[in-house]
Amino acid sequence: MTNKYPDAEFKDGVYYHQHDVVIVGAGGAGMRAAIEAGPHAKTAVVTKLYPTRSHTGAAQGGMAAALANVEEDSWEWHTFDTIKGGDYLVDQDAAEILAKEAIDAVIDLENMGLPFNRTPDGKIDQRRFGGHTREHGKAPVRRACYAADRTGHMILQTLYQNCVKLGINFFNEFYALDLVTTKDENGKTRVAGIVALELATGDLHVFQAKSVVFASGGFGKMFKTTSNAHTLTGDGVGIVWRKGLPLEDIEFFQFHPTGLAGLGILLTEGARGEGAILRNASGERFMERYAPTIKDLAPRDIVARSMVKEVLEGRGAGPNKDYVYLDCTHLGAEVLETKLPDITEFARTYLGVDPVVEPVPVMPTAHYAMGGIPTNNEGEVLANNDEIVPGLYAAGECACVSVHGSNRLGTNSLLDINVFGKRSGRNAVAYAKTADFVPLPADPAKEVRDMVERLRNSNGTERIADIRRTLQEEMDKNAQVFRTEETLTNVMGTIHELRQRYMNVSIDDKGKRFNTDLLEAIELGFLLDLAEIVAYAARNRKESRGGHMREDYPDRDDANYMKHTMAYLTGDPHSPNPEDHITLDWKPVVFVKNDEGELRYPPKERKY
Ligand SMILES: Cc1cc2nc3c(=O)[nH]c(=O)nc-3n(C[C@H](O)[C@H](O)[C@H](O)COP(=O)(O)OP(=O)(O)OC[C@H]3O[C@@H](n4cnc5c(N)ncnc54)[C@H](O)[C@@H]3O)c2cc1C
Repeated sequence: MTNKYPDAEFKDGVYYHQHDVVIVGAGGAGMRAAIEAGPHAKTAVVTKLYPTRSHTGAAQGGMAAALANVEEDSWEWHTFDTIKGGDYLVDQDAAEILAKEAIDAVIDLENMGLPFNRTPDGKIDQRRFGGHTREHGKAPVRRACYAADRTGHMILQTLYQNCVKLGINFFNEFYALDLVTTKDENGKTRVAGIVALELATGDLHVFQAKSVVFASGGFGKMFKTTSNAHTLTGDGVGIVWRKGLPLEDIEFFQFHPTGLAGLGILLTEGARGEGAILRNASGERFMERYAPTIKDLAPRDIVARSMVKEVLEGRGAGPNKDYVYLDCTHLGAEVLETKLPDITEFARTYLGVDPVVEPVPVMPTAHYAMGGIPTNNEGEVLANNDEIVPGLYAAGECACVSVHGSNRLGTNSLLDINVFGKRSGRNAVAYAKTADFVPLPADPAKEVRDMVERLRNSNGTERIADIRRTLQEEMDKNAQVFRTEETLTNVMGTIHELRQRYMNVSIDDKGKRFNTDLLEAIELGFLLDLAEIVAYAARNRKESRGGHMREDYPDRDDANYMKHTMAYLTGDPHSPNPEDHITLDWKPVVFVKNDEGELRYPPKERKY
C-alpha cells in the first residue's frame, strides 16, 4: 500500500503524523484557534465534519459586544449581565475578559471580511437579546452584532476563508477517538497527541503533537427535542473524561425557549430582540407576569420555565394544549424578510405556518451545554481545581471557562468561541515553542483499534437506533426544564440499562470505507457516558440555579451550592452505580473585588 500522506510515516497499518499544534474541531472555536496558531507553528486541524458544516454555521441571532454603536453601552454592563444571567455561578474574572475582549473580537472578524448588518451611517448594527441590559438591568440594550439571522454562517465562512488564506492544514472527515497520554515521573498526565479514524478509508492516524486543542462542540443529541445538529455527540468531552480528567458543571444544560413545537428546530431569540412576543392560548403576553421589566427578553432559563408552566397549568395552545405561540405578526413582512429570513422560512417549511400572518407554535428545545472540559482563562485544561495539564487546551462549547455559569446569555457563545478560541490558539503555540514532543507509547492506536474491532466483529443483538431513541426520550422526560430526585434517579436507572445493552450492540456495515454505522455506535457511547454524568451531577445539586431547576429544591441555595461541580471518573465505568465510578467534588466560584475590597458583582436575587 502506498503512503497517501507523504509527511506521515506509515507503520504497522497506522499513519503517524507530527505537528506542533493539533486542533480537534473546525467550528468557530477551532478555526479561530487555527488562525492564531497556523502562522507560527506547524498546525493541523482534525475535524469529523467538513469545516463549513460545523454547528457554528447554524447560529442565527448574533454575537454580543458592547460597541455602543446604536446606544450607550459598556463592557462593565455586559459583564454584569453575563454574571447575573448565569445566576452567579460565572467565574467573574473570566466574564470580564469575555466582555472586554468582545470589542476586538468583532473588529477582528470585520477586518477578516465578515459582512455584518449596518446602520444607515455605516456602523455595525446591533440588536436586542435576552438578558442584555443597560445600567444593570434597567432596560434591554442593543448589544448583539448580527448578519441577518445567519450570523454563525457568516462567522464560519469568514474564519474558513482566512484559514485557507493562511494555508492551514485540514484533515477533514477524520474522527478523533482518543487522546494519547502518558504519565511523567510524578504521576502527572502528559499529552502526546491524538488518534483519529479517517472516514473515507477506515484507516487509523496518530497525530503526535506538543499542544492539543479540543474545540469539538456540544452534546445536545442526548436529548430528543434539540436545536443541535446530529453530529453534536460530545466526542471531545467524552474522550477527555475517559482519560480521567474532570468535567465541570456538566449538569447545567440550556433549553432555548423557541424551538418549533414538536421539532426543536430553533427560531432565534433575535426574533424577540426585534420585538416578537410570546403568547399563551388566550393571547395573553404571559412574560409580563414572570419578568415585568424586560418581559420576553428575560434570560432563557426564565423564559423556558415560564412557557412550560403555562402549558402545565392548562394555558397551552393547540389541540393538545402543549405549546405556546411566538407572535411576529406585528413586525411586518419587511422586517421578517430582511432581518429574520431564515427562521421565517423554517416556520413555513417545517410547520406550514407563515409568521407574517399567524403566530408560530413553539416550545423549549435542548440547546447548549454550559458545562464541559474545565479550563482557566488561558484555555489551559485543568486536571483538578487549579493544576493544569501541560499542552492541553479546550475552547468553545466543549469547554467550561466558566463564562456562562449556570445559564448562558444568547449571543455570548459566538463571542466565547472567538475570545477563548483565540486565547487557546495563541497559548498552544507559545507552549509548543518551548516544549518537546512527549514520546508516544509503543502502540498508541491500540485502544481505538480494539474498540473499533469489538464493534465491527460483534454479533450482538442490540440496535444503535433503539438505544439512542430511548436515551433521548428518557432525557427529555426526566432531565429537561424541570427535574426532581425521582426523575433523575429514574433516568440514571435507564442509562445504566442502556449502557449494559450498549455492550451488546452490533452494526450492519462491517466494511472500512465511510462506515457511518460504526461511527454512530462510537458516538452513542460518548452520549451514554455524558448523560450519566449529567443526571448524576444534577441529582447531587439540591438547589435550583439557572438552567438547572429542581422542583423539589426550588430555591437557589448560595450557602451550600454557590460552587462549581467537578466530576471525575474514578472506577470501572461499567459498574452499575455511578457512585462506584464517578466522584463528585466542588470548585469555588471566582469573584472580582473593587479597589475598596468589596465584591464588584455581589450575588443577588435574580429579578428582571
Ligand atoms: C441552531 C443554533 C443557533 C445558535 N445561535 C447562536 C447565536 O445566535 N449566538 C450565539 O452566541 N450562539 C448561538 N448558538 C450556540 C453556538 O452556535 C455554539 O455554541 C458554537 O457555535 C459552538 O462552536 P464550537 O466551535 O465550540 O463547536 P461547533 O461549531 O459545534 O464545532 C465542533 C467541531 O468539532 C468537530 N468535532 C466534533 N467531534 C469531533 C471528533 N470526534 N473528531 C474530530 N472533530 C470533531 C466537528 O467536526 C466541528 O468542526 C447556536 C446554536 C445552535 C445549535
